[in-house]
Amino acid sequence: MTTEISHIVKSEEPARYHKPPFYKPIHREVEVFEHAYKNKLPILLKGPTGTGKTRFVEFMADKLNQNVITVSCHEETSSTDLIGRYIIKGAETIWVDGPLTNAIKEGAILYLDEIAEARPDVVVAIHSLTDHRKELYIDKLGVTVKAHPDFMLVASFNPGYQKGFKELKPSTRQRFVAISFQYPSEKDETEILMAETGLAQDTAKKLVNIANKIRNLTELGLTETVSTRLLVDAALLINSGLPKRLSVKVAIVAPLTDDLEITQALTDLCDLMI
Ligand code: ADP
Repeated sequence: MTTEISHIVKSEEPARYHKPPFYKPIHREVEVFEHAYKNKLPILLKGPTGTGKTRFVEFMADKLNQNVITVSCHEETSSTDLIGRYIIKGAETIWVDGPLTNAIKEGAILYLDEIAEARPDVVVAIHSLTDHRKELYIDKLGVTVKAHPDFMLVASFNPGYQKGFKELKPSTRQRFVAISFQYPSEKDETEILMAETGLAQDTAKKLVNIANKIRNLTELGLTETVSTRLLVDAALLINSGLPKRLSVKVAIVAPLTDDLEITQALTDLCDLMI
């Protein structure tokens, strides 16, 4: 399985044409990030999927005029994927830097999305970058690379209290400044939906009410509940003309469960609320 990497390069557009990514601050996370950046402290974003962690990193990178390299970690992501590897090109064997090495050399923000999913050697690889050393030892090359002063490490982690989620060791967590992400308040989430998709306020409110209702149905034992992302998807479908009930069914109910009875119960509930 290859590891997905994306590189968002800072905008070179003149400020008056530049449209920053939309992000609605929920608490004081912008301020915390700015101070962590100033003090070169790594940040851990904790919270369920779809609560705006990735969007927040994109927003902050734009605000700080930094490039961001994102690595979507999965169970096979290894330190080699991050640091780099030798590859064979024609008759030659050449070294190719991985995203972590690129980020520390160019001074970008490295965002390790879902760090707890990665192999344990990934955490070991970033140790020397999360303390005063701020350097990376590349054992295959026998060299130590000092991090560019603008380099910053950001990781995300879904604490998931249900089984099946991977935990992050306390000793690793203590290397980061941590910011918690939760589902936004009714008012904030309605505003996010409207700003993100252009959906009318009354429908946006109804979607948020559906989300909150389902989030409170803990007895259903859903592994993951309704995220803002699912609401955004439903809003986009509604806006493009798909009937509301069908939009809610395919964008909110169906992604949550495969259980036929729960699907039916949730569909009935949503049909009444939309
Ligand atoms: P995560 O990284 O936590 O899984 P994302 O950042 O991908 O979640 O968020 C999913 C979607 O939810 C975003 O694409 C955006 O549309 C929306 N979203 C969630 N929270 C916010 C927020 N505070 N401001 C703006 N958009 C948000």
